[in-house]
Amino acid sequence: MKDCIFDKILAKEIPANVVYEDEHVLAFHDINPQAPIHVLVIPKKKIVSFVDVAGQDAHTMGHYFQAISKTASKLGLDEDGYRVCFNTGSHGQQTVPYIHAHILGGRQMRWPPG
Ligand code: 5GP
Repeated sequence: MKDCIFDKILAKEIPANVVYEDEHVLAFHDINPQAPIHVLVIPKKKIVSFVDVAGQDAHTMGHYFQAISKTASKLGLDEDGYRVCFNTGSHGQQTVPYIHAHILGGRQMRWPPG
């Protein structure tokens, strides 16, 4: 599978501002933040998109989701709340073909999203 920008961040070929890391997950600030806090969380084992989550083992996915929650807590977002989203495929406007949870916080979100 061809390397994308997040493969390069994981390989430390491109720098990133890391906020959480463990054996299986990396979280780093988005380069083009859409909220005062905008962090991306990726699993170290490559998954291309949310479409592929159903085919993964539950333990890996459970760890990933717990890491997203831990990262948001670490960012101090629990009290006021935040949004987690997975842009998926063309209609979801996914631009990087490596699954990533966006954690957005630090301001009031709106609904519905655009
Ligand atoms: P998507 O549009 O696929 O849901 O989100 C991709 C995200 O990756 C965007 O919010 C974009 O700003 C972010 N991004 C793209 N290139 C880089 C990069 O080199 N470093 C970081 N930290 N974020 C990036």
